Amino acid sequence: MKFATKAIHAGQEPDPATGAIMTPIYQTSTYVQESPGIHKGYAYARGKNPTRTALEKCIASLENAKYGLCFSSGMGASDAIIKLLLPGDEVICCHDLYGGSYRMFTKVFEPLGIKFHFEDMGNLKMISNLVNEKTKMLWVETPTNPMMNIIDIAGIAKLKTKPSHPILIVDNTFASPFLQNPINQGADIVMHSATKYLNGHSDVVMGALCTNDDTLYERLSFIHNSCGATPGPMDSFLVLRGLKTLHLRMERHCYNGRLIAGFLKNHPKIDKVYWPGFPEHPNYEVAKKQMKDFGGMISFTLKGNSKEDAFRLASSVKVFSLAESLGGVESLLGHPASMTHASIPKEEREKTGVVDSLLRLSIGVEDAEDLIEDLKQALEKI
Ligand SMILES: *Cc1c(COP(=O)(O)O)cnc(C)c1O
Repeated sequence: MKFATKAIHAGQEPDPATGAIMTPIYQTSTYVQESPGIHKGYAYARGKNPTRTALEKCIASLENAKYGLCFSSGMGASDAIIKLLLPGDEVICCHDLYGGSYRMFTKVFEPLGIKFHFEDMGNLKMISNLVNEKTKMLWVETPTNPMMNIIDIAGIAKLKTKPSHPILIVDNTFASPFLQNPINQGADIVMHSATKYLNGHSDVVMGALCTNDDTLYERLSFIHNSCGATPGPMDSFLVLRGLKTLHLRMERHCYNGRLIAGFLKNHPKIDKVYWPGFPEHPNYEVAKKQMKDFGGMISFTLKGNSKEDAFRLASSVKVFSLAESLGGVESLLGHPASMTHASIPKEEREKTGVVDSLLRLSIGVEDAEDLIEDLKQALEKI
């Protein structure tokens, strides 16, 4: 089946009891057994819930994976992945990683004896030299936040043949399965903050993992049930409903993204625009090869690089909302230096491009003309 059909149907059968076309919200914590241990596959809802099962099958199908597991947040999903490791193991990850992942790696898992190397994963040769006998994981995020760097997933996957056989994890939150399927490029586990594009309506926090590997699935499922960061049925229902329009939303995010990136690029008050769909973007060729389109995430800086100008713009927008998060139907604007990246020292963040006037847009699915008008009037205020 093709993507749009899977988004609407995968994992979902009419309800066996009533024929309801929509998977019911099985709001239950336990299931009645016929005799001890004899049941319909469901014993206790931390382990399994039918609404969640439908969602897990649907997400797995969209990622071309055999297995899916849903978590109560993206961080819950990432936490389960790192719990595959033991003290002494090492991970190589992107240096411009999602801030929450960076915090969990350095503040929770480093004290437990796992070592993380934050590196420029665009530099394949350098990364290849860094892989040693303790390297058990390669952790890639692409496009990266907020600089929109693109990492060559298939290129990194070649390093899996090194003697330590590291597994490759791709955080696919920014692209969504509509734009790229990392498993097809050699990833072992795909991770999502389903809070973002998968759900798409800014009303649920959820995480997801997908894999094709039987052993990894068994271990992750064990951690999932043992540690318990599993989502409830209502949230599972909402994400399942969100998925039904993922392809339509993504088409519009991309369409609007292209128009707004073009508008920003030609505006006299804008300095740089970071969007992987520009042929002059340093990773344009990789983006073209591994992504179906270029998405609706855009960052830009202002001429003069003044933080006050960036703040004035951020508080002058009327259709865009000033908020954290991304991937919803409504357009959002954020100021990474004072919001998502505030905990990183100025010198450190500026090295990766997060300067004072950098603003990040999550382009929604509103009318592009209204979004452009809104940015135009806000830019006039500075
Ligand atoms: C939001 C986000 C996460 C964390 O997910 P939550 O659902 O907020 O726990 C991880 N990675 C990326 C790229 C994100 O944008």
